[in-house]
Amino acid sequence: MANLLIVEDDELLRDGLSDLMTQAGHQTTTAEDGEAALAHIIASVFDGVVLDLGLPKVDGMTVLRLLRERHPAMPVLILTARDGVEDRVEGLNAGADDYLTKPFNTDELLARLQSMLRRASLPAFAPAPTAQSQAIQGPQGLRLDPVLPRAWLSGDAIDLTQREWALLRLLVQQQGQVVSREDVLAAWQAQPAEAGGSGLASNALEVYVHRLRRKLTGSALNIRNIRGLGYMLEHNTQSPG
Ligand code: CA
Repeated sequence: MANLLIVEDDELLRDGLSDLMTQAGHQTTTAEDGEAALAHIIASVFDGVVLDLGLPKVDGMTVLRLLRERHPAMPVLILTARDGVEDRVEGLNAGADDYLTKPFNTDELLARLQSMLRRASLPAFAPAPTAQSQAIQGPQGLRLDPVLPRAWLSGDAIDLTQREWALLRLLVQQQGQVVSREDVLAAWQAQPAEAGGSGLASNALEVYVHRLRRKLTGSALNIRNIRGLGYMLEHNTQSPG
């Protein structure tokens, strides 16, 4: 059971979400606007938050930023409008762990939420592996923890989300080969695919690749888009052919 905060201004949807999560065995607190959400966040600690971005009084993005300052590791799933691509990118950059576009499938919401809560219970702040052999070695001084969502570039920690880390791990493990979109999506699915479920939006992968590229800026590493096939990790050293 998790203690969840649901922030949604649409009353029907808010009550529906609360009922759904209560039935799934969770304890829920609801907020109808950004101001109420912030009051709850200040007063209590939650295991996870479902946050609508379009909110009265204080918008969801502001709630997300303030929440992140206070609780860097609290899992947050954002709800966005179907056409809100910028919102999704901005939300992920502001520290959301996952997103769903409205209207969404309730089974998918529960699956994503469970997966997010499970990831959050990982000891993400454990010390770096000391023995080199424990880490996955990549090119250009890149190292990845084989189990936890952590990585280092020449000894400096890179701040990665679980999905970014899973993506990078695939790219490193399949160096010199193309990693297909399907490989990445399969690695991301913490639960068996639901029949008829839409799974991850196809443009979600592009968002994560974009973010990961940015985090590798300044290193010799780049993620190359192989049109129609997938992605490949490359580094800027001249190959002798
Ligand atoms: Ca709304």
